[in-house]
Amino acid sequence: MDLLNTLVDKGLRRESPSRAEALAVLATSDDDLLDVVTAAGKVRRHWFGRRVKLNYLVNLKSGLCPEDCSYCSQRLGSTTGILKYTWLKPDQASEAAAAGLAGGAKRVCLVASGRGPTDRDVDRVSDTIKAIKEANEGVEVCACLGLLSEGQAERLREAGADAYNHNLNTSEATYGDITSTHTYADRVDTVQKAHSAGLSACSGLIAGMGESDEDLVDVVFSLRELDPDSVPVNFLIPVEGTPLAKEWNLTPQRCLRILAMVRFVCPDVEVRIAGGREVHLRTMQPLALHLANSIFLGDYLTTEGQAGKADLEMIADAGFEVEGADQVTLPEHRASAVVSGCGSAENAGCGSHEGTGGGCGSHEGGGVCGSVPAAASAAKANEARTDLVAVRRRGAGTDLAPNA
Ligand code: SF4
Repeated sequence: MDLLNTLVDKGLRRESPSRAEALAVLATSDDDLLDVVTAAGKVRRHWFGRRVKLNYLVNLKSGLCPEDCSYCSQRLGSTTGILKYTWLKPDQASEAAAAGLAGGAKRVCLVASGRGPTDRDVDRVSDTIKAIKEANEGVEVCACLGLLSEGQAERLREAGADAYNHNLNTSEATYGDITSTHTYADRVDTVQKAHSAGLSACSGLIAGMGESDEDLVDVVFSLRELDPDSVPVNFLIPVEGTPLAKEWNLTPQRCLRILAMVRFVCPDVEVRIAGGREVHLRTMQPLALHLANSIFLGDYLTTEGQAGKADLEMIADAGFEVEGADQVTLPEHRASAVVSGCGSAENAGCGSHEGTGGGCGSHEGGGVCGSVPAAASAAKANEARTDLVAVRRRGAGTDLAPNA
Protein backbone atom coordinates (compact mmCIF):
# COMPACT_ATOMS: atom_id res chain seq x y z
CA MET A 1 0.00 0.00 0.00
CA ASP A 2 1.65 3.21 -1.17
CA LEU A 3 0.05 5.18 1.64
CA LEU A 4 1.61 3.03 4.33
CA ASN A 5 5.05 2.96 2.71
CA THR A 6 4.95 6.74 2.54
CA LEU A 7 3.88 7.04 6.17
CA VAL A 8 6.65 4.73 7.36
CA ASP A 9 9.25 6.73 5.45
CA LYS A 10 7.95 9.96 6.91
CA GLY A 11 7.78 8.54 10.43
CA LEU A 12 11.38 7.39 10.33
CA ARG A 13 12.35 10.93 9.26
CA ARG A 14 10.10 12.58 11.88
CA GLU A 15 8.25 14.23 9.02
CA SER A 16 4.57 15.02 9.38
CA PRO A 17 2.04 13.20 7.24
CA SER A 18 -0.43 15.39 5.40
CA ARG A 19 -3.93 15.75 6.81
CA ALA A 20 -5.23 13.69 3.88
CA GLU A 21 -2.83 10.87 4.78
CA ALA A 22 -3.85 10.95 8.43
CA LEU A 23 -7.52 10.84 7.44
CA ALA A 24 -6.79 7.95 5.08
CA VAL A 25 -5.39 5.90 7.98
CA LEU A 26 -8.67 6.33 9.84
CA ALA A 27 -10.57 5.30 6.68
CA THR A 28 -8.71 2.05 6.01
CA SER A 29 -10.75 -1.16 5.80
CA ASP A 30 -10.69 -4.00 8.29
CA ASP A 31 -8.93 -6.09 5.62
CA ASP A 32 -6.07 -3.61 5.69
CA LEU A 33 -5.91 -3.26 9.47
CA LEU A 34 -2.98 -5.60 10.10
CA ASP A 35 -1.00 -3.83 7.37
CA VAL A 36 -1.69 -0.53 9.15
CA VAL A 37 -0.52 -1.96 12.47
CA THR A 38 2.60 -3.42 10.83
CA ALA A 39 3.50 -0.09 9.24
CA ALA A 40 2.97 2.02 12.36
CA GLY A 41 4.74 -0.70 14.34
CA LYS A 42 7.88 -0.12 12.26
CA VAL A 43 7.85 3.53 13.29
CA ARG A 44 7.23 2.62 16.93
CA ARG A 45 10.14 0.13 17.00
CA HIS A 46 12.48 2.56 15.25
CA TRP A 47 12.11 5.13 18.01
CA PHE A 48 11.24 2.99 21.04
CA GLY A 49 12.29 -0.59 20.33
CA ARG A 50 10.08 -3.17 22.06
CA ARG A 51 10.00 -1.30 25.37
CA VAL A 52 6.75 -0.52 27.18
CA LYS A 53 6.81 2.20 29.77
CA LEU A 54 4.53 1.73 32.74
CA ASN A 55 2.92 4.69 34.48
CA TYR A 56 0.96 4.66 37.70
CA LEU A 57 -1.90 6.95 38.64
CA VAL A 58 -2.45 8.35 42.10
CA ASN A 59 -5.66 10.31 42.44
CA LEU A 60 -4.74 12.91 45.07
CA LYS A 61 -8.21 14.44 45.26
CA SER A 62 -11.29 12.80 43.83
CA GLY A 63 -14.62 14.25 42.74
CA LEU A 64 -16.20 17.50 43.89
CA CYS A 65 -15.08 19.42 40.81
CA PRO A 66 -16.86 22.68 39.85
CA GLU A 67 -16.08 22.22 36.12
CA ASP A 68 -18.53 20.57 33.70
CA CYS A 69 -16.44 18.37 31.39
CA SER A 70 -19.09 16.07 29.85
CA TYR A 71 -16.87 12.99 29.84
CA CYS A 72 -15.90 13.26 33.48
CA SER A 73 -17.38 11.39 36.42
CA GLN A 74 -15.85 13.95 38.78
CA ARG A 75 -17.73 16.87 37.20
CA LEU A 76 -20.26 19.07 38.89
CA GLY A 77 -23.55 17.18 38.99
CA SER A 78 -22.11 13.76 38.25
CA THR A 79 -24.25 10.96 39.68
CA THR A 80 -21.73 8.21 39.03
CA GLY A 81 -21.08 7.39 42.66
CA ILE A 82 -17.32 7.58 42.49
CA LEU A 83 -15.04 7.83 45.49
CA LYS A 84 -14.99 11.39 46.79
CA TYR A 85 -12.17 12.60 48.99
CA THR A 86 -10.03 15.65 49.48
CA TRP A 87 -6.24 15.91 49.30
CA LEU A 88 -4.26 12.82 50.25
CA LYS A 89 -1.44 13.60 52.65
CA PRO A 90 2.11 13.24 51.28
CA ASP A 91 2.73 9.97 53.14
CA GLN A 92 -0.59 8.54 51.89
CA ALA A 93 0.24 9.50 48.31
CA SER A 94 3.75 8.13 48.69
CA GLU A 95 2.38 4.83 49.96
CA ALA A 96 0.01 4.60 47.00
CA ALA A 97 2.82 5.44 44.58
CA ALA A 98 5.05 2.77 46.09
CA ALA A 99 2.59 0.06 45.10
CA GLY A 100 2.75 1.09 41.44
CA LEU A 101 6.52 1.39 41.48
CA ALA A 102 6.82 -2.06 43.02
CA GLY A 103 4.66 -3.33 40.14
CA GLY A 104 7.13 -2.01 37.57
CA ALA A 105 6.02 1.55 36.95
CA LYS A 106 8.76 4.15 36.43
CA ARG A 107 6.52 7.21 36.43
CA VAL A 108 3.98 8.29 39.02
CA CYS A 109 1.21 10.58 37.84
CA LEU A 110 -0.24 12.74 40.60
CA VAL A 111 -3.71 13.89 39.62
CA ALA A 112 -6.21 16.15 41.35
CA SER A 113 -9.71 17.06 40.32
CA GLY A 114 -10.58 20.72 39.98
CA ARG A 115 -10.26 23.68 37.62
CA GLY A 116 -6.74 24.31 38.74
CA PRO A 117 -4.60 24.48 41.89
CA THR A 118 -4.42 27.31 44.39
CA ASP A 119 -0.97 28.31 45.53
CA ARG A 120 -1.68 26.35 48.73
CA ASP A 121 -2.47 23.31 46.58
CA VAL A 122 0.84 23.70 44.79
CA ASP A 123 2.51 23.68 48.23
CA ARG A 124 0.72 20.45 49.12
CA VAL A 125 1.65 18.78 45.86
CA SER A 126 5.23 19.99 46.18
CA ASP A 127 5.45 18.30 49.57
CA THR A 128 4.02 15.14 48.03
CA ILE A 129 6.49 15.20 45.14
CA LYS A 130 9.37 15.55 47.58
CA ALA A 131 8.08 12.68 49.72
CA ILE A 132 7.79 10.37 46.72
CA LYS A 133 11.20 11.32 45.35
CA GLU A 134 12.88 10.86 48.74
CA ALA A 135 11.43 7.39 49.09
CA ASN A 136 12.05 6.25 45.51
CA GLU A 137 15.33 7.18 43.88
CA GLY A 138 15.04 7.84 40.15
CA VAL A 139 11.26 7.88 40.04
CA GLU A 140 9.68 10.26 37.54
CA VAL A 141 6.82 12.37 38.79
CA CYS A 142 4.21 14.03 36.62
CA ALA A 143 1.64 16.43 38.05
CA CYS A 144 -1.82 16.88 36.62
CA LEU A 145 -3.67 19.54 38.53
CA GLY A 146 -5.70 21.39 35.92
CA LEU A 147 -5.19 24.92 34.61
CA LEU A 148 -2.03 26.59 35.90
CA SER A 149 -1.64 30.20 36.97
CA GLU A 150 1.52 32.22 36.45
CA GLY A 151 4.51 30.83 38.32
CA GLN A 152 2.90 27.56 39.38
CA ALA A 153 4.67 25.45 36.75
CA GLU A 154 7.99 26.86 37.88
CA ARG A 155 7.20 26.03 41.50
CA LEU A 156 6.30 22.44 40.61
CA ARG A 157 9.53 22.14 38.65
CA GLU A 158 11.51 23.43 41.62
CA ALA A 159 9.79 20.86 43.84
CA GLY A 160 11.10 18.11 41.58
CA ALA A 161 8.26 17.47 39.16
CA ASP A 162 9.55 16.08 35.87
CA ALA A 163 6.43 16.55 33.80
CA TYR A 164 3.00 18.16 33.66
CA ASN A 165 -0.08 16.71 32.01
CA HIS A 166 -2.94 18.68 30.56
CA ASN A 167 -4.88 17.19 27.66
CA LEU A 168 -6.39 19.07 24.72
CA ASN A 169 -8.94 16.24 24.58
CA THR A 170 -10.64 17.17 21.30
CA SER A 171 -10.52 19.62 18.43
CA GLU A 172 -10.77 23.34 18.97
CA ALA A 173 -13.95 23.40 16.84
CA THR A 174 -15.81 20.97 19.12
CA TYR A 175 -14.29 21.86 22.46
CA GLY A 176 -17.27 23.99 23.46
CA ASP A 177 -19.57 21.00 22.98
CA ILE A 178 -17.92 19.02 25.76
CA THR A 179 -17.04 21.72 28.28
CA SER A 180 -18.42 25.20 28.95
CA THR A 181 -16.52 26.24 32.05
CA HIS A 182 -13.13 26.67 30.40
CA THR A 183 -11.85 26.94 26.85
CA TYR A 184 -9.56 25.12 24.46
CA ALA A 185 -7.30 28.17 24.60
CA ASP A 186 -7.07 27.81 28.39
CA ARG A 187 -5.79 24.28 27.87
CA VAL A 188 -3.25 25.25 25.27
CA ASP A 189 -2.01 28.00 27.58
CA THR A 190 -1.38 25.55 30.42
CA VAL A 191 0.56 23.15 28.19
CA GLN A 192 2.69 26.05 27.05
CA LYS A 193 3.28 27.18 30.64
CA ALA A 194 4.52 23.70 31.53
CA HIS A 195 6.82 23.68 28.51
CA SER A 196 8.21 27.10 29.33
CA ALA A 197 8.96 26.09 32.92
CA GLY A 198 11.14 23.21 31.75
CA LEU A 199 8.62 20.54 32.57
CA SER A 200 8.21 17.73 30.09
CA ALA A 201 4.83 18.42 28.53
CA CYS A 202 2.27 15.66 28.33
CA SER A 203 -0.93 16.34 26.40
CA GLY A 204 -3.35 14.04 24.66
CA LEU A 205 -6.87 13.35 23.56
CA ILE A 206 -10.08 11.46 24.24
CA ALA A 207 -11.56 9.53 21.32
CA GLY A 208 -15.14 8.29 21.16
CA MET A 209 -17.01 11.41 22.26
CA GLY A 210 -18.94 11.64 18.97
CA GLU A 211 -16.21 13.50 17.12
CA SER A 212 -15.54 13.17 13.40
CA ASP A 213 -12.37 11.86 11.78
CA GLU A 214 -11.54 15.47 10.95
CA ASP A 215 -11.80 16.39 14.64
CA LEU A 216 -9.44 13.59 15.59
CA VAL A 217 -6.92 14.63 12.98
CA ASP A 218 -7.28 18.28 14.05
CA VAL A 219 -6.49 17.57 17.68
CA VAL A 220 -3.54 15.31 16.86
CA PHE A 221 -2.06 17.90 14.50
CA SER A 222 -2.56 20.55 17.18
CA LEU A 223 -0.71 18.32 19.61
CA ARG A 224 2.15 17.90 17.14
CA GLU A 225 2.36 21.67 16.97
CA LEU A 226 2.51 21.97 20.77
CA ASP A 227 5.30 19.38 20.71
CA PRO A 228 4.63 17.48 23.96
CA ASP A 229 7.00 14.67 24.89
CA SER A 230 4.10 12.33 25.51
CA VAL A 231 0.61 11.94 24.10
CA PRO A 232 -1.91 9.90 26.10
CA VAL A 233 -4.72 8.49 23.96
CA ASN A 234 -7.88 7.97 25.98
CA PHE A 235 -10.87 6.04 24.71
CA LEU A 236 -14.05 7.39 26.26
CA ILE A 237 -15.49 5.24 28.99
CA PRO A 238 -19.16 6.25 28.83
CA VAL A 239 -19.72 6.23 32.56
CA GLU A 240 -23.31 6.17 33.83
CA GLY A 241 -24.11 9.47 35.53
CA THR A 242 -22.28 11.62 32.96
CA PRO A 243 -23.72 13.36 29.89
CA LEU A 244 -21.77 11.07 27.53
CA ALA A 245 -23.01 7.83 29.10
CA LYS A 246 -24.67 6.73 25.83
CA GLU A 247 -21.67 7.41 23.57
CA TRP A 248 -20.54 3.87 22.79
CA ASN A 249 -18.86 4.66 19.48
CA LEU A 250 -15.65 2.66 19.44
CA THR A 251 -14.54 -0.75 18.21
CA PRO A 252 -11.16 -2.36 18.85
CA GLN A 253 -10.40 -1.83 15.14
CA ARG A 254 -11.24 1.86 15.37
CA CYS A 255 -9.01 2.23 18.42
CA LEU A 256 -6.10 0.59 16.57
CA ARG A 257 -6.54 2.95 13.59
CA ILE A 258 -6.58 5.95 15.92
CA LEU A 259 -3.41 4.80 17.68
CA ALA A 260 -1.72 4.19 14.32
CA MET A 261 -2.67 7.66 13.13
CA VAL A 262 -1.29 9.22 16.30
CA ARG A 263 1.94 7.25 15.87
CA PHE A 264 2.36 8.46 12.28
CA VAL A 265 1.71 12.10 13.23
CA CYS A 266 3.80 12.00 16.41
CA PRO A 267 6.40 9.35 15.48
CA ASP A 268 9.09 10.00 18.11
CA VAL A 269 6.77 10.90 21.00
CA GLU A 270 5.76 8.64 23.87
CA VAL A 271 2.30 7.49 22.80
CA ARG A 272 0.43 6.13 25.79
CA ILE A 273 -2.73 4.04 25.75
CA ALA A 274 -4.66 5.63 28.60
CA GLY A 275 -8.18 5.22 29.94
CA GLY A 276 -10.53 2.88 28.10
CA ARG A 277 -7.84 0.41 27.03
CA GLU A 278 -9.56 -2.62 28.53
CA VAL A 279 -13.10 -1.49 27.71
CA HIS A 280 -12.57 -0.70 24.02
CA LEU A 281 -9.52 -2.64 22.81
CA ARG A 282 -10.51 -5.67 24.84
CA THR A 283 -8.73 -8.78 23.48
CA MET A 284 -6.93 -6.61 20.92
CA GLN A 285 -4.83 -4.86 23.60
CA PRO A 286 -1.64 -6.73 22.67
CA LEU A 287 -1.85 -5.48 19.06
CA ALA A 288 -1.99 -1.93 20.39
CA LEU A 289 1.42 -2.42 21.98
CA HIS A 290 2.83 -2.41 18.43
CA LEU A 291 1.63 1.20 18.18
CA ALA A 292 1.94 2.74 21.62
CA ASN A 293 5.05 2.47 23.77
CA SER A 294 3.45 3.33 27.09
CA ILE A 295 0.45 2.29 29.21
CA PHE A 296 -0.96 2.78 32.68
CA LEU A 297 -0.48 -0.05 35.12
CA GLY A 298 -3.51 -1.08 37.15
CA ASP A 299 -6.42 1.21 37.89
CA TYR A 300 -7.42 4.58 36.51
CA LEU A 301 -8.56 7.56 38.51
CA THR A 302 -12.18 6.64 39.00
CA THR A 303 -12.54 3.30 37.22
CA GLU A 304 -10.77 -0.02 37.61
CA GLY A 305 -8.29 -1.37 35.08
CA GLN A 306 -7.36 -5.00 34.56
CA ALA A 307 -5.10 -6.53 37.19
CA GLY A 308 -1.56 -5.17 37.15
CA LYS A 309 -0.30 -8.75 36.89
CA ALA A 310 -2.37 -9.21 33.71
CA ASP A 311 -0.78 -6.08 32.23
CA LEU A 312 2.68 -7.53 32.83
CA GLU A 313 1.73 -10.93 31.40
CA MET A 314 0.24 -9.29 28.32
CA ILE A 315 3.43 -7.34 27.66
CA ALA A 316 5.59 -10.45 28.00
CA ASP A 317 3.26 -12.65 25.94
CA ALA A 318 3.22 -10.07 23.12
CA GLY A 319 7.02 -10.10 23.00
CA PHE A 320 7.60 -6.71 24.54
CA GLU A 321 9.55 -5.75 27.65
CA VAL A 322 8.83 -3.41 30.54
CA GLU A 323 11.07 -0.38 30.34
CA GLY A 324 13.46 -0.20 33.26
CA ALA A 325 14.17 2.80 35.47
CA ASP A 326 17.68 2.93 33.97
CA GLN A 327 16.40 3.13 30.40
CA VAL A 328 15.67 6.43 28.75
CA THR A 329 12.21 6.55 27.24
CA LEU A 330 12.66 9.17 24.59
CA PRO A 331 14.93 9.14 21.55
CA GLU A 332 18.20 10.97 22.15
CA HIS A 333 17.30 14.13 20.24
CA ARG A 334 14.23 14.55 22.45
CA ALA A 335 15.52 13.20 25.76
CA SER A 336 18.44 15.61 25.87
CA ALA A 337 15.99 18.47 26.16
CA VAL A 338 14.20 17.05 29.17
CA VAL A 339 16.84 15.55 31.40
CA SER A 340 15.63 15.97 34.92
CA GLY A 341 17.74 17.02 37.84
CA CYS A 342 18.05 13.46 39.08
CA GLY A 343 19.39 12.19 35.79
CA SER A 344 16.23 10.57 34.53
CA ALA A 345 15.09 11.72 31.15
CA GLU A 346 11.48 11.97 30.30
CA ASN A 347 8.19 12.95 29.12
CA ALA A 348 4.67 11.87 29.82
CA GLY A 349 1.99 12.53 32.35
CA CYS A 350 -1.18 11.26 33.76
CA GLY A 351 -3.48 11.73 30.85
CA SER A 352 -5.82 9.08 32.03
CA HIS A 353 -8.59 11.46 32.51
CA GLU A 354 -12.12 11.30 33.15
CA GLY A 355 -14.64 9.97 30.76
CA THR A 356 -11.91 7.57 30.42
CA GLY A 357 -12.03 6.58 33.97
CA GLY A 358 -9.55 9.24 34.51
CA GLY A 359 -9.43 12.61 35.93
CA CYS A 360 -8.94 16.11 35.41
CA GLY A 361 -7.30 18.86 33.86
CA SER A 362 -7.75 17.64 31.84
CA HIS A 363 -15.87 7.39 11.69
CA GLU A 364 -14.98 6.30 7.57
CA GLY A 365 -15.00 4.08 4.37
CA GLY A 366 -12.92 2.32 1.81
CA GLY A 367 -12.10 -1.26 0.99
CA VAL A 368 -12.38 -3.60 -1.94
CA CYS A 369 -14.70 -6.48 -2.74
CA GLY A 370 -15.62 -8.36 0.39
CA SER A 371 -13.78 -6.05 2.74
CA VAL A 372 -15.54 -4.49 5.69
CA PRO A 373 -15.31 -0.72 5.51
CA ALA A 374 -14.26 0.99 8.70
CA ALA A 375 -17.64 2.71 8.87
CA ALA A 376 -19.35 -0.66 9.08
CA SER A 377 -17.13 -1.81 11.88
CA ALA A 378 -17.77 1.47 13.70
CA ALA A 379 -21.49 0.74 13.47
CA LYS A 380 -20.90 -2.54 15.29
CA ALA A 381 -19.58 -0.52 18.18
CA ASN A 382 -22.93 0.61 19.45
CA GLU A 383 -23.19 -2.32 21.79
CA ALA A 384 -22.73 -0.79 25.22
CA ARG A 385 -20.19 -2.78 27.22
CA THR A 386 -21.24 -1.46 30.60
CA ASP A 387 -20.27 -4.88 31.96
CA LEU A 388 -16.64 -3.86 31.48
CA VAL A 389 -16.92 -0.63 33.47
CA ALA A 390 -16.35 -0.71 37.22
CA VAL A 391 -16.06 2.34 39.45
CA ARG A 392 -12.81 2.25 41.42
CA ARG A 393 -13.34 1.08 44.98
CA ARG A 394 -9.77 0.25 46.00
CA GLY A 395 -6.39 1.93 46.30
CA ALA A 396 -5.92 5.64 47.02
CA GLY A 397 -8.63 7.08 49.22
CA THR A 398 -9.72 3.65 50.53
CA ASP A 399 -8.48 1.12 53.04
CA LEU A 400 -8.15 -1.54 50.34
CA ALA A 401 -4.93 -2.54 48.61
CA PRO A 402 -4.36 -0.87 45.25
CA ASN A 403 -4.26 -2.74 41.94
CA ALA A 404 -0.66 -2.70 40.79
S1 SF4 B 1 -11.83 16.65 33.68
FE1 SF4 B 1 -10.86 17.69 35.47
S2 SF4 B 1 -11.66 19.81 35.36
FE2 SF4 B 1 -13.03 18.58 34.03
S3 SF4 B 1 -14.76 17.99 35.45
FE3 SF4 B 1 -13.19 16.31 35.50
S4 SF4 B 1 -11.91 16.78 37.29
FE4 SF4 B 1 -13.01 18.65 36.75
